[in-house]
This record gives sequence, C-alpha cells and structure tokens, in this order.
Amino acid sequence: MIEHAVLGRPGGDNALWVRVNTGQQIHRLLFDCGNGCIGPLGSAELQAVDHLFFSHFHMDHVAGFDGFFRINFNRDTKPVHVWGPAQTIDLMQHRFRSFWWNLHEEQTGSWVVHEIRPDSVDAARMEVAEAFAVRHPAGGGPCEPLIDGPDYRVTVRLLDHRGPSAAYRVDEECRLNVNPERLTQSGLRPGPWIQCLKDLSVTGTVDIQGQSLDLEQLRADLLERSPGASIAYLTDFRLDEDWTERLASWLAGCDVLICEAQYAKNDAPLAAQNFHSTTAQVAELARRAGVGRLELFHLSRRYPEFIWREMMREARAIFPLTQFPAAWNL
Ligand SMILES: [Zn+2]
Ligand SMILES: [Zn+2]
Repeated sequence: MIEHAVLGRPGGDNALWVRVNTGQQIHRLLFDCGNGCIGPLGSAELQAVDHLFFSHFHMDHVAGFDGFFRINFNRDTKPVHVWGPAQTIDLMQHRFRSFWWNLHEEQTGSWVVHEIRPDSVDAARMEVAEAFAVRHPAGGGPCEPLIDGPDYRVTVRLLDHRGPSAAYRVDEECRLNVNPERLTQSGLRPGPWIQCLKDLSVTGTVDIQGQSLDLEQLRADLLERSPGASIAYLTDFRLDEDWTERLASWLAGCDVLICEAQYAKNDAPLAAQNFHSTTAQVAELARRAGVGRLELFHLSRRYPEFIWREMMREARAIFPLTQFPAAWNL
C-alpha cells in the first residue's frame, strides 16, 4: 500500500510525503523540502526517512532542508540518502558545511548523496565525523531504475525547467495474497506459516498442523499476485506536445499523479516563459497517461482563491478525476 500527503499550503511551498507500507515494513520517502512543510510530520517520522528526493534546488523546494538536516545530521541508525539532478553533490555539501563543526568528531552519521545525470547516477558519501569535508565515492550506476526493490522501485525523468527538474515515479512491487477460497478448500488453518508463504526468500518445507508441506507447492496452490500501487511526483517543468507524449508513456497506468499546476489555462504564454505548466496541460497529460487520479499542487500565489477553484474546473473539463490535496479544503 502507498500512502501519501502533499505538505504545505496552496500558493506556498510544498513537499510530498510517501509511505510504502508492505505490511511487514514501512519505507518513508520525502520529495522536496519547502519552507515550513515538514514540521507536521514529527521527529519520529522524519528520523525514519529512507530517501529524500529533490526535484531541483530553487529556494521554494529546499528552504525547509535545515530543519530536516538538524533532525538527521548525526543519525546513527541508517544512512540518509539524498537524490537530485545535476549539482546535487556540490549543493548538498555546501549546505552540510555551512555550519560550525567543532564537536562532531565522535558523532556517527552518514549521508549518501546521489546526483542524477542524463545517462548515469554519481554518488558520494559524507560523514558528520569528518564535518562533511570528504566526498567518499559511493558507487553510482544507471538511471533506470534509480532504486530497485525488493519492496518498491523508483524511476526518474529529467524535465525541462530551464535546467533539469527531476520527476519521480514510485511503483510498489506486486503483492502476494492468499486466495481465501483456495485456503478453505485446502483444509489448512491460517497461522504464522502464512508469513513464510509470502516471504519468497524462505524455501523448503513448512510445518502446518503436524504436516511438513512443500512451500513451492503451497505457493502455487494458494497465492495470487495483485499489482502494486504507484505514485508519481512532477513539479516545475514546461510541457509541450513532445514532452506530453514522452511523459504519458512513462506515467501510463500510474495510480496517483501529483503534479504542479502553477498557471491557469489562459496564462500558457507565461507558463512557457517561466518553464512551468498550466492546468489544461497537466490534465491533458493525466488523460493521455490514463492515470488513476490527478492531484494538483504548487499553485501560483499570483491568483486569488476563486481562480484556483476555476483552475480546478479547467482541469476537470479535460480529466474529471482531478482534485486538490484533501487537506487544503479548496
Ligand atoms: Zn523551480
Ligand atoms: Zn517551484
């Protein structure tokens, strides 16, 4: 299951919070870090973030980063992974180094910063114990996919914002469920063995009610696969016919599309000039991609509230399954 919440307010800075919940484990992903956005999540959730993905480094997407860094700079439970487009390693290191470090040598905390280029990803690890002064090579690899399983995968596209703005898509892996009718027919009583059945790393046999049964056979008899959920995050980019086509195939079948809608339909020239999109353009993208629903965010503060509502009507005329984040009450 994928849970999400758009953070921040309409006309203000925003971010996206995503939890991929497998039932056994919760993976926490944060997309951008606008000013004042992350506070409502609370320290415990923020300290458990696995990956922070930046679209780009305009101030409205990074102004809240200091709060995130303060909570996590010396996290010793697991490294913090940060992702972003060209210059991410430089920009992050500058931010890490922009504090006075004089009590840090005994502290533990690793940050792995991944820089997404058109054809590859570069990565550097930096340590609080070294005052983040040293860039240790940390691998890197292909762009496709950025992250691959076991519970979810992340893919990326670099959009045109007069420079790259990274868009991300998260796909949960297929879910394995026990078919209840087949379970009844088998005569087996449910129990802890069902977790073994779903955990494909466990092989061999399992004891159920005094019988030793072959796991592979049980899986074939009882399990069924259902597709995982998916969500995509696109912000700060221009759209034209060519981009719409390219992105529609990448976003095909995505359940939830979280997408910027900076400008109203009539302000398309302004949108193009500022490398942003309009409601009509993103609704058309959602329609062509056949997404489950479209959630509009990152609205320009140039418009009064009644125009935001008008923008929603413009989008729904093209793609009816469009809404604002529920918490906005717009
Ligand atoms: Zn921007
Ligand atoms: Zn922006």
